[in-house]
Parts: sequence; structure tokens; C-alpha cells
Amino acid sequence: MRVVIEVRRPTSVTLESSQPWTVNALLFVVMLNVIAEVVILAGWYGASTRGTVSSQVPWAETAIVGAIVAGVADCMWLLRGRRAIGERRRAVLTLETWQARSSSQVVVAAASASADLVRADGMTRVHRSGCPLVAGKKTNVVRRPGNAARCGICGA
Ligand SMILES: [Zn+2]
Repeated sequence: MRVVIEVRRPTSVTLESSQPWTVNALLFVVMLNVIAEVVILAGWYGASTRGTVSSQVPWAETAIVGAIVAGVADCMWLLRGRRAIGERRRAVLTLETWQARSSSQVVVAAASASADLVRADGMTRVHRSGCPLVAGKKTNVVRRPGNAARCGICGA
């Protein structure tokens, strides 16, 4: 008996781009890092030209602000990439789940089409004759399965 099951694929898996980062995001992070470097250099230069610690502190604080800006910009860059990779992972898992589900539905439907219960030599569970777990194995027809353990794949 031939069983034909029409299974539809998910309509589409859409990703915004093939890269985790966009050109605009790259320009943004580069611009913020350049600004931060200028602020850090200004803070360093300002502090190096002062003679007392109390007059160097405001310049050191300026350099610290520059370092914080650079750190925040880089963290935003990494988080954006992490988010894009997560979206891709979800899309791939959705597609794989669909494929696994559709193939198991086909196997179960095909297995259910044949009502003969069989058991291969050395196996403890009873299977339907179309079950993939007994495919290619020498099987014996089981007329009265009784309390024999049933296959969890083919639902014998
Ligand atoms: Zn089975």
C-alpha cells in the first residue's frame, strides 16, 4: 500500500541580511570608537600637561568617559551580532523541527498503513511491518502480540 502525504514546508525563513551586522552598525561603532579615542587622547594630553594631581583629575575623568563610551559602543556591537545570530538559530531550529516533524509523520503514516505486527530476531518489541526499525531485518509475523512491548516509533 502506498501512502501519499502532502506536507507543506514553512512558507519562508526570512533573515534581514546574510551578515550579523549591517554597514550602518559598523559605521556607528567605528564613529563612536573614533570619538572615544579622541576624548581619551584629549584626557591623556590634558592630564600630562598639568603639574598637580588635583588639576589632572578632571582630565583623567574625561579619559574615563571616553573609555566608557568605547566600551558601551563595543558592547552594543557585540549584542547586535549576538541577537542576529540568535534569530538565525531560531530560524534554523524552526526549519529543522518542521523537517523532523514532517518526516516522522510520514514514517508513522506509512507504518500505520500496514497492519501486520512483526518482531525481528533478537528484538523484544513488536513493530508494524513498515516500521523503519525493522526495515531490512528478518522478521517473524506476530499473530498474537499479547502483552509484548510495543514500538514507540510505529505505534504497533
Ligand atoms: Zn516500530
